[in-house]
Amino acid sequence: MVGAGAVGLAVAHALSSKGRAVAVLEKQPAFGQGISSRNSEVIHGGLYYPTGSLKARFCVEGRRRLYRFLDEHKVAYDRCGKLVVAPDEADIPRIEAILAQARENGVERIEPLSAAQARTLEPELACAAALISPESGVFDSHGYMLALAGEIGEAGGVLALRTPFLGAEPLAGGGWRVRAGGEEPAELAAGQLVICAGLEAQAAAAAIGAYPKALIPRLHYGKGVYFRLAGPAPFRRLVYPPPIQGALGTHYRRDLGGQAHFGPDLAFVETEDYAVDPARASRFYADIRRYWPGLKDGALEPDYAGIRPKLHGSGEPQPDFRIDGPEVHGLADLVALFGIESPGLTSSLALGEEVARRLGA
Ligand SMILES: Cc1cc2nc3c(=O)[nH]c(=O)nc-3n(C[C@H](O)[C@H](O)[C@H](O)COP(=O)(O)OP(=O)(O)OC[C@H]3O[C@@H](n4cnc5c(N)ncnc54)[C@H](O)[C@@H]3O)c2cc1C
Repeated sequence: MVGAGAVGLAVAHALSSKGRAVAVLEKQPAFGQGISSRNSEVIHGGLYYPTGSLKARFCVEGRRRLYRFLDEHKVAYDRCGKLVVAPDEADIPRIEAILAQARENGVERIEPLSAAQARTLEPELACAAALISPESGVFDSHGYMLALAGEIGEAGGVLALRTPFLGAEPLAGGGWRVRAGGEEPAELAAGQLVICAGLEAQAAAAAIGAYPKALIPRLHYGKGVYFRLAGPAPFRRLVYPPPIQGALGTHYRRDLGGQAHFGPDLAFVETEDYAVDPARASRFYADIRRYWPGLKDGALEPDYAGIRPKLHGSGEPQPDFRIDGPEVHGLADLVALFGIESPGLTSSLALGEEVARRLGA
């Protein structure tokens, strides 16, 4: 296994719980330091994704599995619910389309609300209409990864930190010779190889000499910044405007500690740079005031940024997750995951099960 983010750990968890011997190579000194530590920590309902897509399937299935896992492992979460709002009358057809898609995807208990009903739930909200998705929530994603790592260890799996994957060659009798770097570089034999390397998935695939380079999807960095609110959180529930092209829109979240955050936005960038430009706040004020007119000037402070491992560029349609096995690249005993952007955290346990299934576990 390459990569100990939420998805790599979930895959390793699925494999080790089915009796497979697993070693996870992680180049950082700790797990979960990549995309999995720079996101919204939202448990998504699974509303938006096209019928039949991996995102639709794994988000709904992954969410159900995730709540069960969090309960079993006493990891903190708040199933606070989410309001998808139509700020203006003109936005109502868009949220009606989301309602239809959500029902098609099997999302439980999602219902339309009038403006008055929405304001009864969240008095500071301004909207023409809304949807409520009671199954959406926020969670302690680090606690989740810690629980996964603990169970992988208990099942005999190995998490090798500070151990970069350098490349692999197919072995004559099947499986892979894997080159690992770090303080004690080593070569190891693996029956099967899974790449869950987030923003470096393409680089990891390219380091496998036999991988057909033309079949490695192009990576685009989709940066999103957050601003936090100075002052008390105005809403208990998540609040999302209708999605923008390529992302879910500048939404509101109250984290488990009670801090209010807004974001992420979306900008395609060329380098992995996590700076938050304070100038982006002006757009945030305008977007947020469409559903929260009470936002005061000067109340937004730069927070943090994350980068989505996108498989599309600006203005292009957003593709599905990619789980590329031998039917795509022609190499036995190899699965490579690409483009695991949102809702990757929510989907992680379902992705883990799917990869394990494809590897015959
Ligand atoms: C701004 C933003 C907001 C998001 N919000 C949400 C949300 O609210 N809900 C949700 O469900 N999803 C959300 N997502 C998506 C979610 O965060 C990701 O899908 C998920 O974290 C991806 O996990 P991963 O394990 O694939 O990648 P990562 O967490 O990046 O893990 C990959 C790991 O591979 C390691 N690695 C890379 N190359 C090598 C190598 N050569 N050798 C060894 N190790 C290597 C890295 O160090 C890293 O630890 C969001 C994403 C972003 C960017």
